[in-house]
Amino acid sequence: MAAQAVVITPRQDPWEMALRQYNVAAEFLPLKRGIREFLALPKRELTVNFPVKMDDGSVRIFTGYRVHHSTVLGPTKGGIRYHPDVTLNEVRALAMWMSWKCAVVGLPYGGAKGGVIVDPKVLSLDELEHLTRRYATEISILMSPEGDIPAPDVGTTPQTMAWIMDTYSMHRGYSTPSVVTGKPLSIGGSFGRVEATGRGVMLVTREAARTLGMQLSGAKVVVQGFGNVGSIASWLLADQGCTVTAVSDTGGGIHNPRGLDPRAVLKYKEERGTVAGFPGADRVTNEQLLELPCDILIPSALEGQITAQNAPRVKARLIVEGANGPITPDADEVFHGRKVLVVPDIVANAGGVIVSYFEWVQGLQQFFWTEDEVNQNLERIILRSFSQVMSTADEKRTTLRTAASIRAIQRVAEALMTRGIYP
Ligand code: GLU
Repeated sequence: MAAQAVVITPRQDPWEMALRQYNVAAEFLPLKRGIREFLALPKRELTVNFPVKMDDGSVRIFTGYRVHHSTVLGPTKGGIRYHPDVTLNEVRALAMWMSWKCAVVGLPYGGAKGGVIVDPKVLSLDELEHLTRRYATEISILMSPEGDIPAPDVGTTPQTMAWIMDTYSMHRGYSTPSVVTGKPLSIGGSFGRVEATGRGVMLVTREAARTLGMQLSGAKVVVQGFGNVGSIASWLLADQGCTVTAVSDTGGGIHNPRGLDPRAVLKYKEERGTVAGFPGADRVTNEQLLELPCDILIPSALEGQITAQNAPRVKARLIVEGANGPITPDADEVFHGRKVLVVPDIVANAGGVIVSYFEWVQGLQQFFWTEDEVNQNLERIILRSFSQVMSTADEKRTTLRTAASIRAIQRVAEALMTRGIYP
C-alpha cells in the first residue's frame, strides 16, 4: 500500500474563533467604537504557577488561569477545565462565550472561565485534591459568591467543586456553598444540575427538529464526546425515540446503524473507562464519526472539531453544539451555504449554567427546589431563548450563531451604556 502523507491541521485558535464570531455579530449593531473594542477584550486575566506535592514525594509545578471576560451584567460565571491542551487563549475564548451564553439566556451574570494544564486521568485522587485546593487558593483573589462563581467543565466534577467550596470556606472560617455551583447534593448542590446541560441539549434538539419538520422518533443521532453532556444528551434523546447510532470519547468511537443503548454504553464506560470496544458495535475514529450518515449530529467534546475540511462531508441536517466552540467559523459558512441548521453552543449547552444559576440562588436563599421545579424552569428559559434567537435569525437573515451573539452583545452593551463609563 502506498504511504499516505499525514496532514496535521493545527487546531484553530479558539480565541481567534471567538473574536471572528464577535466581529460578525457586532457589525449588525450600532455600537460605539470604544464599546465594541472593550467587549472584545477580557476584563482581567490571572495566570498562576503553583507547586503540588505528588504521591511519590516529588513536587510538580502546574500552570492555571482564571479569566473574567465581562462583569457588566453581574458576577462572573463559568467553569474550570482540567486538560493537557489548556491555553490562555482557550480560556479567554471560553470566558467570552460564557458572557454571551449568560446574556442570551437572560441570566444576571458576566462570563469567566478557568483552566489548569493537566491531564486529570493520570493523577491519583489525592494528587487531584491537592492540585484543586492549591489552584482554588491561588484564584481566591478573584473568586467569591458575589464576584466570581466557578463550576465544572471538561475534566472537573462535582467532587472538584466540593474541594473548592471546602477550601474557600476554610479560609473564610464558615461554609460558603454559593462560591461554586455543580456541587454534590449533600453540600448544597441542586437537583437536576448533573443532567442540566444534556437536558438542555435534548430540549433544543427537539425544538430545532420541529422547526425543520424532522420527526424525532427514529431520527438517527451521532454524538461526539461521551462525558457529562454527550452521555446524558444521548440517553435523553433515546428516550425521545431517537436512534443513537454512534458515540465516542478520547478512546475512540463505536457505531451501530441499528442503534446503541446509551445507558448500557455508559455502564460499559464506567467499568472500562472508554466506550471503545462496546460489544456489538463497529469501531470508528472520532474523525470518521463526524462524517457518518445521520440526521442529527451533536459534537459534545472539544473546540475546533468541525473545520472547513470535514464540514462538506458531514451528513447531518441538524447540528446541536453540546461542546463550546466545536465548529470553526469557516465550517459555519459551509453549513450556512448547505442549509444545515446549526444550534450554537451559547444556546444549545446553556442548560448547565441555567441550572448553575438556580443552584446559586437556592444556596443564597437557603431554600431548595424540587427536581420538577428545576426542570420546568430550565425548559421555560432555554426554549424561550431558542425561539427568540430563531426570530432574530429570521429578521436579520443570518445564522442562529450570529443571531444569538447579536442578542447577547446587545444586552451587555445596553447594560454597559446604562451604567455609564466610570469615572
Ligand atoms: N462549564 C459549563 C459551560 O461551559 C457550565 C458553566 C457554569 O455552570 O457556570 O457552560
